[in-house]
Amino acid sequence: MRHLPHQNEKALVIGSGIGGLSMAIILSKLGFGVTVVEKNRQPGGMLRSYVRQGIHCNVGLHYLGALDRGQVLRRLFDYLGITEKLPLKRMGVDGPVDRYYFTNAVAGPRQFDMPVGFDAYEAHLKEAFPQEQGAIDGFMALLRQSAGELDRLEFLFRNQPVANLIDQAEPLWEVLDRLGCSPGLKGVLSVPSVWIGVPPPLCPQFYHTITLASYLFSAWRLESHGAHLVKLLVEQLTHLGGRVLCGQAVHRINVRGGHATGVTLENGEQHDAPLVVGTVHPNVVVDLMGPNDVKPSYRRRITGLVNTDGMFAINAVVPAGAHKPLPYNVFSMKTDTDGTVHDVIYTQLRPSGRPESLLLTLITRGYDEIMGTMGEDAQRVSGRRLWGR
Ligand SMILES: Cc1cc2nc3c(=O)[nH]c(=O)nc-3n(C[C@H](O)[C@H](O)[C@H](O)COP(=O)(O)OP(=O)(O)OC[C@H]3O[C@@H](n4cnc5c(N)ncnc54)[C@H](O)[C@@H]3O)c2cc1C
Repeated sequence: MRHLPHQNEKALVIGSGIGGLSMAIILSKLGFGVTVVEKNRQPGGMLRSYVRQGIHCNVGLHYLGALDRGQVLRRLFDYLGITEKLPLKRMGVDGPVDRYYFTNAVAGPRQFDMPVGFDAYEAHLKEAFPQEQGAIDGFMALLRQSAGELDRLEFLFRNQPVANLIDQAEPLWEVLDRLGCSPGLKGVLSVPSVWIGVPPPLCPQFYHTITLASYLFSAWRLESHGAHLVKLLVEQLTHLGGRVLCGQAVHRINVRGGHATGVTLENGEQHDAPLVVGTVHPNVVVDLMGPNDVKPSYRRRITGLVNTDGMFAINAVVPAGAHKPLPYNVFSMKTDTDGTVHDVIYTQLRPSGRPESLLLTLITRGYDEIMGTMGEDAQRVSGRRLWGR
């Protein structure tokens, strides 16, 4: 029998989103006996889809990048043992992956198509902005460098030169200014950071460029739905001897002598394990720990982090005759004269699984008007003050 390095050791994972379930499978493969604790009645977190009128509606899974053979997400999915069972559809075969519409187009083209592939993306940029070859070359160099680091997973290791880390942290907007990009080019280049909810003046260029790079490597839609992916992950975990406890929120992470010893659930149950992994918001993790269990400076740093914007999504069933399904995503947005992108609406129109209807998904930022009163911190970066609209 193969000896696993952590056989007979226990581990607890808080949260059963893609992060928690992936972590749990990895730990199980290392030999840990893993229990995932999930506060909701169903596992999956934001991956989970819901069903209305027999149609599966995704919540936080609309398209995925870097899933081609040998690419970074594919290597993870292969390791997790789920790739073979996932019905995936490649995007960008006969057209774009994303179509950007600038509805007021004050600062650039009205439409920009984002293809698959770094060379194709560069060519599209140079065609749309023929006067800006130098700026585009500068941006593509950064993008290709980040893509290489993403592919080699270098950013997970701490053996990078400090200068490299400083370069990666430079805010995207400063990079685009430094490269001398026009407002129109800035608008096109900054869409991914706006989409992940981090305004370009705040978004480290590395996070922006790896997000963009992952979809340039290759882009995919799941032909089934989020709950299917969750089911595969849970099955794989169970097969490896792990389990998911749903409907049980972790109330406290127990710590003795500076080491985690387990968790106490809201129902009072205690679960002991020398390894506890929180895959929830870092603020939630520090809140679950007693006042003396975390260094005050660390607690201050984590609780001082400003959240990214929330998102608001609508799924609607539309008659199949109304429009053809769109094999690409549509981002419609406005730009200011300086290239600032705002009011992004993401649209996906895809087969619903029923011949007479399509599923229309619209996603936008969780504006205060939609979400109700927001906290002072959230408002500070939610747009109006820092990232005007
Ligand atoms: C509208 C929307 C669209 C998106 N579209 C895409 C996309 O197309 N492609 C893409 O790659 N990404 C997309 N994302 C992002 C992606 O969905 C998330 O990054 C990912 O699902 C986050 O997974 P996670 O495991 O980190 O967190 P989560 O999925 O949030 O999981 C955390 C889990 O922890 C549980 N939990 C919290 N507190 C406790 C506690 N005290 N005790 C026990 N359990 C607890 C929660 O209930 C939750 O189930 C989208 C996100 C949103 C919101």
